Amino acid sequence: MKKMTDTELCDGCGQVDQLVERDGNEFCRHCLTIVDALENRPELLTHLCRLTGSALPADQQENMSRRQRDLPDVLDAVRYRTRDREQNTWYVSVSEMEGDPVEIFASTAFDRDQHLQSRISNLTTITRLISLILRHIYLGEVLTLDKTVKQLRRSSRQKNDLPDMLSKVLSNYRRHAIGAEKEETP
Ligand SMILES: [Zn+2]
Repeated sequence: MKKMTDTELCDGCGQVDQLVERDGNEFCRHCLTIVDALENRPELLTHLCRLTGSALPADQQENMSRRQRDLPDVLDAVRYRTRDREQNTWYVSVSEMEGDPVEIFASTAFDRDQHLQSRISNLTTITRLISLILRHIYLGEVLTLDKTVKQLRRSSRQKNDLPDMLSKVLSNYRRHAIGAEKEETP
């Protein structure tokens, strides 16, 4: 699935840039060039490594053989209508891939109800994080702290609501760029 998103942290290099979604990951254009080469022209990378005397990652061959399943553009979804304890009606959609649940969404007909805003953002948080876990379980998507924080931020509907609060706390633990670990030691 290709989709441009707002300027955010690249899942690859950790730099802030315009991102493009690719199989659940979001990459800047620089990382995307490398990812494209990894996917479509692995022999080019091998050749470039030979030319420049760079070493290929030792497990590259292994990684190539156990490729993760890609999330297709069109998925079957099953929609459930359900009620919470206060009799609010919710619609829960589960996207399926070969019978496996790979994403879950929830919505309500009362999207503009002010009293439901915080509950909607909390439910969005739950479903976004579950979807992240489901894609990890069934599609082999790699989980990172950055992805977790990103999903929390996107679940927020109002400043300082619960997902916003949690994302700010967890952001303190982010590694902002590859190689940052080395610079952290005093
Ligand atoms: Zn990048």
